[in-house]
Parts: sequence; structure tokens; C-alpha cells
Amino acid sequence: MHRCTTFLIPALLLAGSVGAHGQEPGTVTVGPLQVRAGQKVSGFLEVPAGVDEGTRIPVTVARGVRRGPAVAFIAGTHGYEYPPITALQRIREKLEPTQLAGTVILVHVANMPSFLGRTIYYSPVDGKNLNRVYPGRPDGTVSERIAYVITSEVIDRADYVVDLHGGDGNEALRPYCYWMVTGDENLDTASRDMAVAFGLDHIVIDRGRPDDPNASVYTSNTALTRGKPGITTETGRLGSNDAVWVDLAERGVWNLLRHFRMLGGEVERAPAVVWLDHYEVLRSPVTGIFQPAVRDGYAVAEGGLLGVLVDFFGEPLQEVRAPFGGIVNYILGTPPVSEGEPLAMVSRIQVGK
Ligand SMILES: [Zn+2]
Repeated sequence: MHRCTTFLIPALLLAGSVGAHGQEPGTVTVGPLQVRAGQKVSGFLEVPAGVDEGTRIPVTVARGVRRGPAVAFIAGTHGYEYPPITALQRIREKLEPTQLAGTVILVHVANMPSFLGRTIYYSPVDGKNLNRVYPGRPDGTVSERIAYVITSEVIDRADYVVDLHGGDGNEALRPYCYWMVTGDENLDTASRDMAVAFGLDHIVIDRGRPDDPNASVYTSNTALTRGKPGITTETGRLGSNDAVWVDLAERGVWNLLRHFRMLGGEVERAPAVVWLDHYEVLRSPVTGIFQPAVRDGYAVAEGGLLGVLVDFFGEPLQEVRAPFGGIVNYILGTPPVSEGEPLAMVSRIQVGK
């Protein structure tokens, strides 16, 4: 579906801004990068030091030679989720701006402290989860300042936003995509079409995201609360950078560029999509060790055993069971767990769709 060619916004055109549907190609500015039509430029968005240390965000902007939307692809929100990071490097290398309509913004590593520190979920600097602090604030801690820079320099300049994740260093995950439902029919249809076009065969319908743009919490929800379609994708598991996961993320990006008619060619869709409506993330009631009883992607019955929590001597503490029948989207795949952290995500299969 293409919905981006009908009108222009003259003021934005004159300013050469990204963000207007159907804009004419001209110079686009993202942070310090000035990118002319037909160019592909890489550089850094600076996150200045504040209450704690600063950091830099590597980005690439490719400006096409024909009219089209601006699409942002954001990798490395969680620094241990490597396949999307590697996929965007491949995209950067192969993307030819003279063949492109519109603008592609690649955020290669959103969370550099987590990436270089090899941390799951949390920044090693401030202990915060970047994907829980959006839209961020310029006077906050480093995760909040990263979110603020990505909101103002990337999301605010894009027409569509794709937040690329995978199973974190501790998560055994079967690939899937989140379609976040807002209640705005046009927005939801556009996001749904993006989720399908990305090409993964499991799509989780997520109805519980906040609707306040000043407390959007999540990266892609920051786009949605600003009226822009967006999705979150999950490809990869357990810190692996194996090509099979990188390929899935890369194919998804090319698929979306074709979906938006920014490149020629057909979208490679999944043969069929399993829609997952209603999910639950099971969190650990204790600090200890988790021993999984099932693998990612397994089907489980209501009450089925997902795993056992044991203490540091190996003595059983508690069984963890499925709250309803469904699919295991991910399950903790390494031993340690702290109270309140995820053990598994289970989704119910939508029947009759
Ligand atoms: Zn993640």
C-alpha cells in the first residue's frame, strides 16, 4: 500500500526537511549530517555529557532522487541484540540512493553504552532500559538523553519508524513482529501492513501501549503517539549474530522499502501469518536460577510446565507454568534471573483469521 504521494507541504519543502509525505528530494538534515539527493552519508548524532557521561549514535542517511517517504530503521536499542545491527550495516553497503525514492535513516547502534558494555536490557551507565524511557529528556541520565536525541533527530523527521530488536543475550526467541493497535484506523492499518510486509510469520497484536506522546515509553510507540505508523521487530536469540537471524532482519528492511515503493521489486511475504492476540510476559517472583522446560516457538497447553526456578544450590523453588495455551515467543535461555525480570512470553493464537 502506498499512501505517500498525494500532497506536499510547501513550508517543509522550502526548508528541505524530512517528514513531509511525498516531499521533493532536496537537502535533508539529520543532526550534523547534510544529505543531498542521490547521496548516502554516515556520521554521529552527539549525546552531550550531562548528569553522567555522553555518547554518540552512528547513523546513515540515504537521500533518494525521487519523491517518497522518510523511513527510520533503529537497531541496537538493546546493545546485546546484534542481528539488526549487522543487517543495517549490510543495508548501508548495498543501498544505492540513485535508485531510491524518499529518505532512509539508519540508526546503527542506538545504545552505544549497552553495546560496548555487552549488557542486556539495561545501560551500564544509568541502569535504565532505553526502550522504557521514551520520549526521553535533554536533562536526564544518558539513556533518557539518547531517547531525546532519537526522538527529536530521527523519529520527528521520519514518516515511518521501525524498531529492530532480537532476543537479548539471555533470551531464546522465535522471530516475530509486534503490531501495536492504537484505535486510529488509518494508523493501525498502515502499521499492520508494515508488520505483514516485514515478512515474519508470527505477528503479536499488542493492544496495551500507552497513548500519551509525553510518556510514550517505547521507541516505536513514540512514533505511534505522534501519529506515525511504526512496528517493533524481533529477529535473533541469545546474543547470536548468526547469519540466519541477520538475513531475516535484512530481508525485512528491503521488504519495507519495497512496500513503500521506495525501491522496485516485490515484497517477500511469509507464506502465512500466525496472528497472536493477547500475550503475557511471565516475570520471576524470586532471584535465582531458571531451568527452562520448553524451547522458544514451542506450543504449550494451559498449565503446561515452562520451567523451574531453583536456588543457587540447585534446590527447586517454584515451577513456572503457562497461564493459557499458546506459543512460547521467548524463554529465558541462560541461568541467572533477578526478581521481576522476564522468564518467558506466551501468546494466544488467534483463531479464525
Ligand atoms: Zn530488545
